[in-house]
Amino acid sequence: MADLKQLLKDNGVVGAGGAGFPSYCKLAEGADTLLINAVECEPLLYTSYTLMQERIRDIIIGMRAVMEYANIPRGLLAVKDYRAQKLGYSDGQELAPGVFIKYVPNVYPMGDEINLIYTATGRVVPPGQLPITRGVIVFNTETIYNIGLVVQFNQPVTKTYLTISGDTDKAYCVKVPVGMKIAEVLKIMNVEVPDTHVVIDGGPSMGTVVNLSTDVVKKPCSGLLILPKTIPAVQNKLRTKEDNFRRAASVCCQCNRCTDLCPRHLLGYPLEPHKMVRSTLSAAMADPELIKTATMCCGCDICSTLACCQDISPMQIIKEYKGILAKNRMKYVADPSEQFTPSPEREARMVSAGKWKEVLGVAKYDKFPPIYVEEKLKASEVFVPMSQHIGAPAVPIVAVGDHVEENQMIAKADEGLSIPHFAPISGRVTYVDAKTIVIHA
Ligand code: SF4
Ligand code: SF4
Repeated sequence: MADLKQLLKDNGVVGAGGAGFPSYCKLAEGADTLLINAVECEPLLYTSYTLMQERIRDIIIGMRAVMEYANIPRGLLAVKDYRAQKLGYSDGQELAPGVFIKYVPNVYPMGDEINLIYTATGRVVPPGQLPITRGVIVFNTETIYNIGLVVQFNQPVTKTYLTISGDTDKAYCVKVPVGMKIAEVLKIMNVEVPDTHVVIDGGPSMGTVVNLSTDVVKKPCSGLLILPKTIPAVQNKLRTKEDNFRRAASVCCQCNRCTDLCPRHLLGYPLEPHKMVRSTLSAAMADPELIKTATMCCGCDICSTLACCQDISPMQIIKEYKGILAKNRMKYVADPSEQFTPSPEREARMVSAGKWKEVLGVAKYDKFPPIYVEEKLKASEVFVPMSQHIGAPAVPIVAVGDHVEENQMIAKADEGLSIPHFAPISGRVTYVDAKTIVIHA
């Protein structure tokens, strides 16, 4: 096989979820386990499930390629027990040499990488360290599927799978060209967004509210959810940080419930959201060492939506601190040899998926399984962002007026951590700047 690391870089493979970490950087020596995160713990999303149902062969090819390249003896495909059963897989079933199904419980946030690694392997990754320090490499389902396509067909990543669901008649899983306007995706799928609703890019807990006039589908997008503005999941996203800081400084009773239920705290991490909330009271309480622990937060939102009885969002405060830390290039980094011991209460305090859906107000919108739409959506134009990943933006190599073919390279990787981009559709380039390339079909 050609050098897999180079292949992944040349074909623009990034994490198809989260912040879009370039996948080639994860292929390091020293892992004994490849862990595929097919858990998809965010309610209403079934993109990983559908890929497992429709594209398991390509997923296994991707897993075997990574295992052979990095000398990894064991591959675990981690999936919620009830979904694996629906797909006809048993716990521990061997799908290919060294590739096993791994059941995980239907609790939230089981898809959090650090929680999943502990559940699947019994190892706790120290805060600020990469999973490879505990012998694990993690990819999500769509990422390993994309790797499978790269090794078989040298096919660059120009499409993404996503679930369309929420307060809609039906739920779909569709393949969408990267850069397609979200409004156009919904129009083609005949999904209406009433004035009383918003569209969430991602899951109801961690996703963000979409601006339908401007926002486009990016590589890490896994879902578009149409949800009423009145439910807790959306209200949490619409609250202003000023209101939240005011509430935090005035009504927090320091009950500690946000810390008691924090899944990262339960893993033994020194993250204590109640202290973050207390730090808003005065500058004297904002200890820099405490603020640095904000980088351990996975953004699950349990502290806000479930734990707090005073309608405070510790997560929003932590997010503010994270932003300040990122600007100053600061984060909490534990020594790789340091050991962290999960709380004996952890299992009992994990939140069942059913309860989490109820608390968010989305239970009645859950439709499982979604309708799989085989053919890809046809975009009239695409707005390809040069930065859809962690690292330096790609650099355009096309000019206005150029005709490009689907899958042709349109932007090259910059120096350092970066990846190239490719045309998601054939057409004419109508706009280019350092941030975006527009192609009309
Ligand atoms: S749960 Fe709410 S009231 Fe209790 S400590 Fe946390 S922020 Fe304060
Ligand atoms: S969002 Fe809250 S509960 Fe979740 S990891 Fe962060 S601090 Fe903990």
